[in-house]
Amino acid sequence: MGTSEPFRLADLVSTRGDERYELHRRHLNPQLPRMLHAIGFDKTYVRGEGTYLYDEQGRDYLDMLAGFGVFALGRHHPVVRQALHDVLDAGLADLTQFDAPVLAGPLAEALLSHVPHLDRVYFSNSGTEAVEACLKFARYYTGRKRILYFGGAFHGLTAGSLSVNGGKDFRKGFGTMLPGTALPWGDLDALERELAHGDVAGLLIEPVQGKGVQVVPPVFLLEAQRLLRSYRALLIADEVQCGLGRTGEFFAFQRDEGVEPDLVAVAKALSGGYVPVGATLGRDEIFGKVYSSMDRVLVHDSTFGSNAQAMAAGLATLHVLEHEDVVENARVVGAELQRRLTELVPRYELLHEVRGRGLMIGIEFGPPVSSLKLRAHWRALQLARKGLFAQTVVHALFHRHGILTQVSGDHIEVIKLIPPLIIGEAEIDRFMTAFIEVMDDAHAGLALTRDFAVTLAGSRRRSE
Ligand code: PMP
Repeated sequence: MGTSEPFRLADLVSTRGDERYELHRRHLNPQLPRMLHAIGFDKTYVRGEGTYLYDEQGRDYLDMLAGFGVFALGRHHPVVRQALHDVLDAGLADLTQFDAPVLAGPLAEALLSHVPHLDRVYFSNSGTEAVEACLKFARYYTGRKRILYFGGAFHGLTAGSLSVNGGKDFRKGFGTMLPGTALPWGDLDALERELAHGDVAGLLIEPVQGKGVQVVPPVFLLEAQRLLRSYRALLIADEVQCGLGRTGEFFAFQRDEGVEPDLVAVAKALSGGYVPVGATLGRDEIFGKVYSSMDRVLVHDSTFGSNAQAMAAGLATLHVLEHEDVVENARVVGAELQRRLTELVPRYELLHEVRGRGLMIGIEFGPPVSSLKLRAHWRALQLARKGLFAQTVVHALFHRHGILTQVSGDHIEVIKLIPPLIIGEAEIDRFMTAFIEVMDDAHAGLALTRDFAVTLAGSRRRSE
């Protein structure tokens, strides 16, 4: 064997770090760097810790996006990090595919301890896979094919989950989908009308919808559950984004007493921000039917499901959630942030509503009523693109104040805040100070739009 260069990850990061956007443009999805250059979000982050990201110049960024909800515990939580070092150092005989993986049982047990009415867990590797398992299990168990979902829903982008996506743009051009029907958000009459056809396997719902941050109306889940049971269809909760403490309950559906979904999809935060993982929790009868005989042992499975690193990250994450008051922090700090934001609604005519639960908060903008100048400006932005005003706010928060947020879906004027659940007073104060400055400016004239246009023009010049 010839001698070869040793592999050194740290060297690779330092020697090739500057090429990241160019390599992405060349070899991965080229639209991502293009979009980031356009809006000036093309930073070179070199470190992340807790609620903050740091760029090459050592500037800190308050992360109110948490990797789309992955970093519930912040970045590099010491307990999760240690668990991952430990699992690697243990040199386990993992993924033999012919034994019972040592960490999967304890993680399933720990998850199920939060939902006593459920009995079993299927582990996969992402949110969309957790949902795919729900769809297949519901169809197999009921022997019916149609899934009900909501307009605005987002459950992932693999073919099954895509079939129940509320946004047509995502589906366009990808051909025939699974049978499903979109319902208006929170509409029990529409639900009953569809159930009456007798072909519905289940209703899939995000108890707090990620797009636009829509909180399920009071008693909807309980009433829906009653209807679904009377038609022998399943209630399926997608807790991929809103679950694991984000709303101030362990699962968001637990807000309403008596709600007992038949299947629950979990992912994102369970990873501890490190190892992709998905989990589908369900009733014994459902699993019992899907895996009804030894012949069917692999009827739904995934090679990497239950891998030791993911299970270790999940166990450590649940340990922290249970022992460090993280869920309670999400409830208390979230309520405080929402209260302070709501107080601003009467002050700013462009600010229409603040909603959400815990640390899943939507800030909705809308047309101004009094100022003629503002009205004309709002109309011009709407004509250019719906959602553009919210984008100018996201842009200003980022460039002026080093705060990372996002517009909560295409063509809507809503900003979503889903920060790590460990944020405290200092982070809330920083966000509020910045938001008030940006809102003041938005009401004073055209500065936000002008700044945004300058960034866009600059990126165009750089790419010419
Ligand atoms: N369900 C919900 C509610 C989500 O928010 C997401 C991701 N944003 C998914 C499913 C899909 O998860 P993943 O990207 O891990 O496939």
